[in-house]
Amino acid sequence: MQKQEKAQIILSELEKLYPVAACSLDFDGDPFHFLVRSILSAQCTDKRVNLLTATLFDKYPGMREFAETDTTELGEDIKSCGLYRAKSKAIKATSAILLEEFEGRVPSDSRDLEHLPGVGRKVANLVRGELFGIPGIVVDTHCARVAKRLGLTDSDHPLQVEKDLAACIPEDKWITLGHRFVAHGRAVCTARKPLCESCPLSEVCRYAKRP
Ligand code: SF4
Repeated sequence: MQKQEKAQIILSELEKLYPVAACSLDFDGDPFHFLVRSILSAQCTDKRVNLLTATLFDKYPGMREFAETDTTELGEDIKSCGLYRAKSKAIKATSAILLEEFEGRVPSDSRDLEHLPGVGRKVANLVRGELFGIPGIVVDTHCARVAKRLGLTDSDHPLQVEKDLAACIPEDKWITLGHRFVAHGRAVCTARKPLCESCPLSEVCRYAKRP
């Protein structure tokens, strides 16, 4: 079976399984808040980030407050998300750059985004997709694992996984594909014990069909 044909079957099954394909990070209508949540989500669950930021933005309503804060204090405030020293420095520095170079706006260009501290390709794709509707595949640990098990990629490297998926998935499905792979990786194709017996993708899955 051609990869494109297989990808089409996978897409259609995932659409049935997860009709609502949405990002699990909260979005309160403020693009900068979403960027901060995305930076905080590195090696942390979206649930925890949502919990923390439900009150964090009361203390730091906008980028000026983050830019002017002391990183030790901010680090204490975001400690529950892990990697808090690096994240507090990144959020403060990113806030300052946005104020100085982008008139206080979150840019949509991937190079501009990836130039910001704490923002790699994954976060840039997420922000571009969620805030601007620009197609991009967010390859996180769930997406990479599910894509490789299914046989849509042979790589563990996020950039290569993204390229392999982009080559067989129509562009207008890129944003929702990432959300659906994450949902499937959390609910069925878990890291430790994938539930292949009850997975509707098992007929086309390389991992399920392995000898
Ligand atoms: S069949 Fe198993 S390995 Fe393949 S996608 Fe489903 S749960 Fe994951």
